[in-house]
Amino acid sequence: MVGCENSKKSDSDSNKEKCLSDDVINLDQGDPTVFQEYWMKKKDKCTVVIPAWDLMSYFSDTTNVCWFLEPELEKAIKALHGAIGNAATEERYIVVGTGSSQLCQAALFALSSLFEVKPVSIVAAVPYYSTYVEEASYVQSSLYKWEGDARTFDKNGPYIELVTSPNNPDGTMREPVVNRREDGKVIHDFAYYWPHYTPITRRQDHDLMLFTFSKITGHAGSRIGWALVKDVEVAKKMVQYLTINSIGVSKESQTRATTILNELTKTCRTQSESFFEYGYEKMKSRWERLREVVESGDAFTLPNYPQAFCNFFGKTISTSPAFAWLGYKEERDLGSLLKEKKVLTRGGDRCGCDKKYVRVSMLSRDNDFDVFIHRLATIKDLKCNQP
Ligand code: PMP
Repeated sequence: MVGCENSKKSDSDSNKEKCLSDDVINLDQGDPTVFQEYWMKKKDKCTVVIPAWDLMSYFSDTTNVCWFLEPELEKAIKALHGAIGNAATEERYIVVGTGSSQLCQAALFALSSLFEVKPVSIVAAVPYYSTYVEEASYVQSSLYKWEGDARTFDKNGPYIELVTSPNNPDGTMREPVVNRREDGKVIHDFAYYWPHYTPITRRQDHDLMLFTFSKITGHAGSRIGWALVKDVEVAKKMVQYLTINSIGVSKESQTRATTILNELTKTCRTQSESFFEYGYEKMKSRWERLREVVESGDAFTLPNYPQAFCNFFGKTISTSPAFAWLGYKEERDLGSLLKEKKVLTRGGDRCGCDKKYVRVSMLSRDNDFDVFIHRLATIKDLKCNQP
């Protein structure tokens, strides 16, 4: 049955009221508020208090290539990757950034400045994360140029391919598609390669990997991301970009991220406390509800994901991506249709695709997700009732 997430509770009337609310629901941005309830239950466990005299310097460790990286954060990042088994941290430089958005731009700068021929082509396979287009075009750099879909890319000369896995917007696991390694570099964006979204099938071991605090725990407001970088020259160039761009990264944010990441690592094997157990169940239940609505009509499509053995959970699990790549079976602008229902989504055209697809955030608060499911069910019925 399609209904509110808490519809079995005695306050079902107030839930019904919420379901019928007339507010605009913004599922365009992937604001990860879905996990707030988990952190509220932690109460003061991860509260961070910083005295006014502390963390005043620009510097953290002048002996480190990334001199503004707090040593405790570096340890916390390594410990977490070690516990989850999703990425190799050995023989790599960690570069911290104000979100992985800043690091992606730092990586474009670093990799393209190290090529002799410029501008370097930037590509990503369709459907791609729409922000890459802006990141690669906004400042109109002479170092690099956005060239769109990696699958149809056939220009000579150096290129950088952005590979997001699992992919934003469609949740698929991805590998590079351009195969001219001698003049190509790859940026692997692993924002969602965590066990609550996808089975951890291997320990990723690439030259340049990006991660973000935002999408692991939901703390997007802290603006912390990190890059694991093999080549010291690339790491140095990235640090140069970050130095010019923001002279480092907030130490308050690094301190908060350290505390929270350490808590994740500490509790990751305790079923009742583990954030990843909680996040996995939460995302799985949302996907089940979405699939139920979609499959009960014939208006919409969703990708199917193969189940796989997750090395972290030690069992075969399903994939529950952070975004739903929702399609409409008829040739129609699905974003506009949903907008009429006061649901804002990201049109497929922004991701290099057709407007009959939209990207829907699965990371909203419960109430917004409930309203979305409710409104989607009414569209599905509308379509089914059409002659
Ligand atoms: N990469 C991908 C694939 C994302 O979806 C996002 C967030 N939407 C980011 C990078 C950037 O995350 P942040 O800047 O919050 O670290």
